[in-house]
Amino acid sequence: MPRNRPGALRARRGPFDGRRPPEWTRELPPLDRLSPDESALIHHLLRGRAPGLAVRLALYRAFLDRPGDRLRPARSTCPACPGCALDDVAVVRDQLADLYRGLPPGARSALGRVLRTLDAEFCRRTLPDPAAVPVGRDRSGRPLPWWHRRLYEGT
Ligand SMILES: [Zn+2]
Repeated sequence: MPRNRPGALRARRGPFDGRRPPEWTRELPPLDRLSPDESALIHHLLRGRAPGLAVRLALYRAFLDRPGDRLRPARSTCPACPGCALDDVAVVRDQLADLYRGLPPGARSALGRVLRTLDAEFCRRTLPDPAAVPVGRDRSGRPLPWWHRRLYEGT
């Protein structure tokens, strides 16, 4: 399949992949910095998982809102527990990546725009860990993404 195919498809179908979100989705709170249209669409697509997306975007933003030029993520002291695992911002970012990958192209590019801004700030305010080697694997067997290979508290 040619490389420009997804872009061509998006152009033809518009930013909403040809979907009109139902009216009720417009009464739900906007998702982070997504536009009202984008928020409505993502509420529609994710249904019950949209609040989880909002929580994870808020956790990522809260991490970046901390004072100081340099930030160090902290490992969760209880990583097996779904709630406590989110104490590690890299785990929050993993789950945002999962939600992002599950969206169709138009909605994905809207969420991607928000994530790119947050990632740029995360990259700027944290330092790469020179000792971290990408040997870790996520649940799907992929190498751990770059956001796991930053200097953590206590390293
Ligand atoms: Zn726990």
